Amino acid sequence: MAQKTKEEILVGERDFDSIFSYDAGAVRSRFLTEIRDNRKLTGIRCPQCNLVYVPPRSVCLKCFANLSDFVEVGQAGTLTTYSIVHRSEPFCPVAAPFAYGIIRLDGADTGLVHFISEVDPQKVHTGMRVKAVYKEERVGSILDIKYFKPAGGEK
Ligand SMILES: [Zn+2]
Repeated sequence: MAQKTKEEILVGERDFDSIFSYDAGAVRSRFLTEIRDNRKLTGIRCPQCNLVYVPPRSVCLKCFANLSDFVEVGQAGTLTTYSIVHRSEPFCPVAAPFAYGIIRLDGADTGLVHFISEVDPQKVHTGMRVKAVYKEERVGSILDIKYFKPAGGEK
């Protein structure tokens, strides 16, 4: 009879204190500079299937068309899903508890992930109307949007 070996669970340790850079690309760079310079939220429309992507992307996920038709979308949108975080982590820019979720901005067909604030996390719910709140000093980061707050007028 074969002896059963004890299985070992391995845990990897990682140091998240490292700083790294990445290229946002032409399409995302325009999205971020519009936020930084004009407090505008832009999407990109597919000329073939008319989908509006926010954040913008260079190729349509549905029909693979190349995308270049930037459109302004609303400052407000609908929260389509969310999560409440109860544990602070050193790499997260805000302390727990906080809420974040996917916001479908008015005029967009896809969702943008961001923080939800100025509301008790226990009162956050899907279908909630939210609007963007910007930082005063913006640097060209998605965190130039400080968070989304309740906008009222739920659908
Ligand atoms: Zn398309």
